[in-house]
Amino acid sequence: MESFAVETSSREELKDVTSKVKEILKDNGVENGVCTLYVPHTTAAITINESADPDVKKDIVDKLSELVPRGKGYRHREGNADSHIKSTLVGNSARILIQNGKLQLGTWQGIFFAEFDGPRSRKIWMDWG
Ligand code: ZN
Repeated sequence: MESFAVETSSREELKDVTSKVKEILKDNGVENGVCTLYVPHTTAAITINESADPDVKKDIVDKLSELVPRGKGYRHREGNADSHIKSTLVGNSARILIQNGKLQLGTWQGIFFAEFDGPRSRKIWMDWG
């Protein structure tokens, strides 16, 4: 098991971490198994979606903001209730199969760290047992 840092640069963004995950698996000589990714934050998440067209991640962020607007009508006093709700909607873990040293992602799939209350320094835990 190991973790790696993710530096985000805006309040809300999807950041592609696919190459970092592949690098860690390669460095550890992982051939077969299941890669589990876990985000230990309450205002961030992880998801797998299209990495070919960068507009897809922007559409996801924009639509989530439309569905869960910032600011009004929440009890949570910190002012980031929308961030917590988006984190729960997207989810804090992902699992991908590994076969013959390769993540079995589809042609258009990438792994995205989802920031909902940045910019911050974040962490992803990773296991391949
Ligand atoms: Zn909060």
